[in-house]
Amino acid sequence: MIKKKILVTGGAGFLGSHLCEKLLNQGHEVVCMDNYFTGQKQNVVHLLKNPFFELIRHDVTMPFFIEVDEIYNLACPASPVHYQYNPIKTVKTSVMGAINMLGLAKRIRAKVLQASTSEVYGDPEIHPQTESYWGHVNPIGPRSCYDEGKRVAETLFVNYHKQNKVRIKIIRIFNTYGPRMHPNDGRVVSNFIVQALKGEDITIYGDGTQTRSFCYVDDLLEGMVRLMNSREEFTGPVNIGNPGEFTMIELAEKVLKLTGSKSKLIHLALPADDPLQRKPDISLARKELGWEPAIALEEGLVKTIEYFKTII
Ligand code: NAD
Ligand code: UDP
Repeated sequence: MIKKKILVTGGAGFLGSHLCEKLLNQGHEVVCMDNYFTGQKQNVVHLLKNPFFELIRHDVTMPFFIEVDEIYNLACPASPVHYQYNPIKTVKTSVMGAINMLGLAKRIRAKVLQASTSEVYGDPEIHPQTESYWGHVNPIGPRSCYDEGKRVAETLFVNYHKQNKVRIKIIRIFNTYGPRMHPNDGRVVSNFIVQALKGEDITIYGDGTQTRSFCYVDDLLEGMVRLMNSREEFTGPVNIGNPGEFTMIELAEKVLKLTGSKSKLIHLALPADDPLQRKPDISLARKELGWEPAIALEEGLVKTIEYFKTII
């Protein structure tokens, strides 16, 4: 194995902290950069005793200089509640963050991976979503700061590749869950588990018939690292997610069953532009990366519930 020096932006967040851990376990040297907007030091504190791990407080919208072989660009709030808190900052994080990381990669000849999202498909009119689908995004809606920011980031990646020969990889991540999601993160899996464990009402937005496909964090990261190590000409974008599709009512019922909770389901207003359906077509990931998820929803929920029991 060749030991690499790897930068992970957003490394103190949910996915970033697991990624830092995985790369260290593979024997690499990891620099974690984060401004702690939604992430926390607590997520990586256990890694600080490793001499090959370095933690730097920095905002990705500001230029950053370092010598590394690879960059995983994950810096960006991911929960609708957090990315809508300061929409202008969310756009800046995606767009200026991408420019800064691509500029850095160009200068030091590093390979760079962009954490894109199924949100580039917006409220999709084709189902399941393939990478060739251009999407259905409202450019002025409440989700646009995130969706359009991520879409421009993809544009920047593709053009730095074409124009400047930067080695790029783009992963389109579908809803991912697991231990270390923030309990107040506002995303559906963490909300339902926390509510069930506390005996509070389970908040279903709208009638709960909208669907999502949930991928366990370990599966997602296996796909992400495989993409980074894939053949040079393969840049993506590639969907990584679990094609199992569930309504929010089905998810709530599973959480109630697995926690043994007596919480009641209540219905709240559906947020504007909330996508009705989402399910990845993962044929490309199967073909190019030999990847498919191994952890079914109930199995992943059990692990996630165990984690939340330790922090609540
Ligand atoms: P998260 O909020 O836990 O992690 C994001 C991290 O980025 C946090 O540690 C945060 O502090 C940091 N960050 C935010 N703005 C920053 C800035 N300006 N400078 C430096 N750091 C900054 O969310 P996550 O679920 O771990 O998501 C990680 C990445 O994956 C994000 O780019 C997100 O858009 C993408 N993604 C995640 C999912 C998912 O379901 N988890 C789905 C699609 C895409
Ligand atoms: N949702 C819900 N109750 C909650 C939080 C979310 O019913 O307490 C719904 C939300 O309206 C959406 C789905 O769950 O339809 C997934 O929401 P999340 O914020 O996790 O992710 P995203 O909408 O970005 O896929």
